[in-house]
Amino acid sequence: MMLAAEPIIAIATAPGRGAVGIVRVSGAQLQTLILAVCGQMLTPRVATLLNFLGADHEIIDRGLALYFPAPHSYTGEDVLELQAHGGPVVLQILLERCLHALPGARLARPGEFTERAFLNDKMDLAQAEAVSDLIDASTTTAARSAARSLQGAFSKEIQTLAEQILHLRMLVEATLDFPEEDIDFLQRADAQGQLNRLCAQLARVLLQTRQGVLLREGLRVVIVGQPNVGKSSLLNALAGQDVAIVTPIAGTTRDRIEQTLHLQGVPLHVVDTAGLRHTAQASDEVERIGIQRSWQAIAQADALLWVRDLARAEQVQVMADDAEIWQSIQTSYLAHAGAHCRVLELHNKCDADDGASARHLVPLAQNAQVLRLSAKTGEGLEALRAGLLQAVGWQALPEGVFIARTRHTQALECCRGHLARAQKCLLAACAPLDILAEELRLAHQALGEITGQVSADELLGEIFSSFCIGK
Ligand code: GDP
Repeated sequence: MMLAAEPIIAIATAPGRGAVGIVRVSGAQLQTLILAVCGQMLTPRVATLLNFLGADHEIIDRGLALYFPAPHSYTGEDVLELQAHGGPVVLQILLERCLHALPGARLARPGEFTERAFLNDKMDLAQAEAVSDLIDASTTTAARSAARSLQGAFSKEIQTLAEQILHLRMLVEATLDFPEEDIDFLQRADAQGQLNRLCAQLARVLLQTRQGVLLREGLRVVIVGQPNVGKSSLLNALAGQDVAIVTPIAGTTRDRIEQTLHLQGVPLHVVDTAGLRHTAQASDEVERIGIQRSWQAIAQADALLWVRDLARAEQVQVMADDAEIWQSIQTSYLAHAGAHCRVLELHNKCDADDGASARHLVPLAQNAQVLRLSAKTGEGLEALRAGLLQAVGWQALPEGVFIARTRHTQALECCRGHLARAQKCLLAACAPLDILAEELRLAHQALGEITGQVSADELLGEIFSSFCIGK
């Protein structure tokens, strides 16, 4: 339990006009405030209709008051919620009244009610993060996943992994502490088998977590290609509306245009860039800067849609320029993307192709999906959507996804690294038990960073409560 902190107050509902607006207070000993503002004591957890009173007993508004005494409240402290009419002025008056009626009270910082809930053990760190993810969710899938995390689905997975690591640590620490025990002790306890099962389980959680990160953070998808290949038409077709200007004039898109689309709930921030051509060919300085920005966008992309033109497949110069662009893409994008080569080579304008053009358009991107499509008729767009989701690693997992953050995947990857080293230690002919113990400790610590829960006392308690010291 955290030490008594100063009371905090905030308007908990969104700014602007609404039917109802809520002023929320959290702190210790709220009785004085309740008496002053509500004119009576409140039955815990029962909504009471009453007048909210000003300093001179004038009526500010009439609404519902709810009192949640500690520790059975959102923050774990005393919480008072005043549901008034949702006008900005009346809520401001009520807020100021509460501030004055409660000595030492101050305005809450963003997220401070949830921070107190975490500090008072009402939820762990991953759940606290899910609160803000649920509020920020931009799709139904993201909202459902955040709700799952908030209910503790993600934390439970992490706790299960942590418990298993803890068990292994107990075995190893005991072997270290009691020198008469040797490596046979670990073998009899099937430490190797336990560790292998743990790694498999971790891999599954990591996969789910990556999906959760995709849902929350989305991906930057950049459409690139020479001028006039149909990049803007493709963005419009994917967006289902005219976001970018489409003309037969080369160099129409002079700066990047960004649009967020949702595919199966995954937010994709799709960027249409200025067509790539030699800056010497650019019509003016604005287009030259646009081309430079295209290359910057490519370098920051999570996935590239590289558009090529079937209608000009027989033009040798156009194909030679494509080959040159591919070379440059390799140096500016693939070099940074490394193994995560997420390029889709799109042969656009298939509606204008009688089959002859396709023979001239030899795919250039190795290990990339090649798709024929028409931004004009929509042919091939479904395959593109599916290909894009596959390229970015999205899988609709049967057991559902929980929302997650990059820091969670980083912690899980760190845990996986330590467990892999622990596996090596166990396999070594003369297992270095102290290193094994340290790797397991670090793996455990990495998981604790996700939920904010690891402490040395916890480990000691676990060891001595379940081990017989006489052994
Ligand atoms: P961008 O410069 O690469 O953005 O290309 P635009 O989207 O502005 O398109 C250039 C020209 O190609 C326009 O006249 C479009 O109507 C035409 N175009 C784009 N996609 C297709 C397609 O799938 N089929 C056909 N036939 N024409 C297309």
